[in-house]
Amino acid sequence: MRGFDSVLVTDWSAASAPAPKRPSKDAIWIGLSRDGVEHEPLYCRTRHEAEARLATLIDEERAAGRRLLAAFDFPFGYPAGFARRVTGSDDPLALWDWLETRIEDDESGRNNRFEVAETLNALFDGPGPFWGKTHRDRWPGIPYAKRGVSFDAVAEKRACDRAARAASSCFQLCYHPTVGSQALMGLPMLARLRRRPGVAVWPFGDWQDAPVVLAECWPGLIERAVRHAQTGGEEIRDRAQVRLLARALARLPVPELQAMMTGLPPEAREEAWILAAGHGPRLCALAADDAPLDPPPLRDDCFALPAGVHWTPVDEALTALRAGLHRVVGAENLPLDAAAGRVLAEDVRARRSNPPAPNSAVDGYGFAFASLPDSPHHVLPLCDGRAAAGSAYRGAVPPGHALRILTGAIIPEGVDTVVLEEDVRRDARRIAFRSGVRKGANTRKAGEDVMADEAIAAKGRVLTPADLALLAATGTAEVRVYRRLRVAILSTGDEIRAPGEATLPEHIHDANRPMLGALMAGMGIDVVDIGRIPDDREALRAALDRAALEADAILTSGGASAGDEDHVSALLREAGAMRTWRIALKPGRPLALALWEGKPVFGLPGNPVAALVCTLIFARPALATLAGAAWTEPQGFDVPAAFAKRKKPGRREYLRARIRGGRAEVFGSEGSGRVSGLSWAEGLVELPDGAAEIAPGDPVRYIPFTSFGL
Ligand code: AMP
Ligand code: MG
Repeated sequence: MRGFDSVLVTDWSAASAPAPKRPSKDAIWIGLSRDGVEHEPLYCRTRHEAEARLATLIDEERAAGRRLLAAFDFPFGYPAGFARRVTGSDDPLALWDWLETRIEDDESGRNNRFEVAETLNALFDGPGPFWGKTHRDRWPGIPYAKRGVSFDAVAEKRACDRAARAASSCFQLCYHPTVGSQALMGLPMLARLRRRPGVAVWPFGDWQDAPVVLAECWPGLIERAVRHAQTGGEEIRDRAQVRLLARALARLPVPELQAMMTGLPPEAREEAWILAAGHGPRLCALAADDAPLDPPPLRDDCFALPAGVHWTPVDEALTALRAGLHRVVGAENLPLDAAAGRVLAEDVRARRSNPPAPNSAVDGYGFAFASLPDSPHHVLPLCDGRAAAGSAYRGAVPPGHALRILTGAIIPEGVDTVVLEEDVRRDARRIAFRSGVRKGANTRKAGEDVMADEAIAAKGRVLTPADLALLAATGTAEVRVYRRLRVAILSTGDEIRAPGEATLPEHIHDANRPMLGALMAGMGIDVVDIGRIPDDREALRAALDRAALEADAILTSGGASAGDEDHVSALLREAGAMRTWRIALKPGRPLALALWEGKPVFGLPGNPVAALVCTLIFARPALATLAGAAWTEPQGFDVPAAFAKRKKPGRREYLRARIRGGRAEVFGSEGSGRVSGLSWAEGLVELPDGAAEIAPGDPVRYIPFTSFGL
């Protein structure tokens, strides 16, 4: 499902007169998030005014090419059996049309809803099902109260009302909540909006790809968030409801929204359904002012390479990835001790200097340097007391006197120099030491490490244990970091069996999944293990669907080439999702890049060696970018080669390597199925794109695995 670019939420009203000019409750409010931007809610005094505005909004969003979800807070359907009794058909939309031809509603709001409800009640035996009216002595076909109304022919509530624990019934016409009246006055309006081009109704008929989808909603789902927003403020309740519900729906990640809109019970076909019923807490969380804000999914062109390039050099491919990808995760606050390995979501400045005050670097005795007489050795009387770390000396040390002072103690007033205790002889009252101590010796100045307000860690940095020390030392207890990226991993191939699984000679064990999982974990990424998928297009399609639903990006291995059984590339191509990158890299090809349901897919080669190299060179920086981290290049260095090799021009090569005796040795075989060579290696030797003739002793670039964070 494609997501919605814009969301509107309408709080409908069955009022019989225009609402006051000044925004007030019991009018019609429309909450609006347009192309990701929250707008001030619209206030409409009458249904006529609201319908005109809604029609304009629908047409504008369509003209701008934006997909619109338009939600309304009244039932789109009635309990099972009601529609058939009225129209002879189970089709809820036929009921909409039936109502539209009968409901009259003038400019000022005068309407005939009670007359129409009487007509409807006449179709049922006994009193009801509609009940409640404004005048006890009018509309004899409508009971004044619910007592005596039997709900035998149709239930009082729909399946979704029960699922959402909604208090209201669509048969209640009067007294709060007047849901029944709102539906009678709202469905004719929807029947007209539905006839505009591009408009479909969820969950009836074909709404999956429609540019505009009308859906039923219920602000009761976000009651907690509405109350919270209203505390201490004057915001009108109805206004807060539409504003927050539009916000929460607009913030729902596409896969979550899709899951809420599909897989409904069968009753929904006739009775309709409340969008997100049962997901109130999730909507409340998303409605909060400080809810993690997930950026929009990637656009289609993030994997585009310049046209006409046949074999793309590695650097060019990396540049394109860097330009096309952006962060896809929102931010959250974490206590410092839970933040190791996480990506900073904002720059951090020192809240406090380090050290915060001048202090002693040693255990010794402090005094004023200027008060020392000019003599080869000094004897100074000792002051009572001492200065220790965590317990400051409150007084001032007089000139010509000394004070016992310990490491980390704040330098007291009257002291600027400390002599090391090993250089001192003392008795109960005095100390003696030789001259030659420099002014300021053995003291640390305030802020000599970090000054308060100095920038200490930049947004996009992956926090190391040492960073935590720096942040803690300078007064930070909580950091804003990005949510951990979730990556789904799956292996493909009929021959693949899990480690430990029974095998026939034609089977091989899955080497890639444990390796890729561990690589991801090392990068601070959460892994969603999708398992092993046979060479079957439908199985693969289902696996990718699941992966896209549960993760932010997908790593597959195997089947990425153009052979008969290369279903990964075939499927991605068939879905129109694939960019085939022919990267001038060994071992590497094939590498398939695609978006599946808006989620980036890295189709890695099946050979474990090639899978590892492609992951380190391409997937690692790309995933780091999706996770909000700054782009980093693995740091290598030149070392003498312990091998000889002649290399043709036209592609970059990575050899499994390690350093012994200060020289880079490479694994004996370059075969990309040799897993033992991967395990043997401690890094990669990178040979440049051009031709090269390497003799033992020539410098080659060595990149240790640790440079990739392994
Ligand atoms: P493919 O890319 O599917 O053509 O696979 C290339 C080679 O890698 C074949 O020999 C596969 O059997 C092997 N291979 C594919 N996936 C894995 C895996 N998960 N573990 C080990 N070897 C694999
Ligand atoms: Mg295969």
